[in-house]
Amino acid sequence: MAHLRLLSTDFDGTLIAHPSNGRCSRAFADVLTLHREAGGLWAVNTGRGLEHAIEGIGIFSAPYEPDFLLTNEREIFLRTGEGTWEPDRKWNGLCRERHGQLFSQAGAVFSRITELATHSPDVTLIHESGVLVGLLTTSEKVMEEVAEFIGREAGHFPEFSFQRNTVYMRFCHRDYHKGAALGGLCRSLSIAREEVFAAGDHFNDLSMLDGKYAAFPCCPSNAIPEVKSAVHVAGGYVASLPAADGIAEAWNHFTNQQ
Ligand SMILES: [Mg+2]
Repeated sequence: MAHLRLLSTDFDGTLIAHPSNGRCSRAFADVLTLHREAGGLWAVNTGRGLEHAIEGIGIFSAPYEPDFLLTNEREIFLRTGEGTWEPDRKWNGLCRERHGQLFSQAGAVFSRITELATHSPDVTLIHESGVLVGLLTTSEKVMEEVAEFIGREAGHFPEFSFQRNTVYMRFCHRDYHKGAALGGLCRSLSIAREEVFAAGDHFNDLSMLDGKYAAFPCCPSNAIPEVKSAVHVAGGYVASLPAADGIAEAWNHFTNQQ
């Protein structure tokens, strides 16, 4: 029987379907209750920024709050006793420093991306605090083309990468993704990969579902084929149910395994 100390769950598409009311399902609430009673921890590992993640968690109304929020596919926040969110200063500081260095060197790639968006009505750039951080496309087909374009344009900058999720893309350093953030959190908590359950549905979840950081990867039935394939290859569990009900199904599968 698996002893799961940490659940690392994506949020959108994994715990909540779109469209939906955004609320926690009964089956997943039961899993969280059992997991918490056994002393287990829960991290929401999302592409959302901190504020947007907190908003989603509020609507989700699970019986327990997550212990950790891993945001923007790379930063780590810990819940305090007062229910506020404290950054992991060491991890987040180094993460920001390395992104700052890379992005200041990769000006040519950003110029080409800006040029692309200027000429394509299907591509909208996303800025945060005046800095270009990602983009939005009108369809997943356009996203596929943009991903190929950036892959070519960033050829001289091997550290330049991106995380993509449906029609959203966030630029990043190749060493930072959901899997790396999960690995960083586990190191700080002395949790082994054999004690970690990870759940996701889209491209930006692949880095935590390949078995490197979590020995128990899974996905809901609505996951994209690439995720189902990665979970299968890693010896994980592809659920028959969608979203949170599928994640509860996977948790029950692993915890009841002999
Ligand atoms: Mg997702």
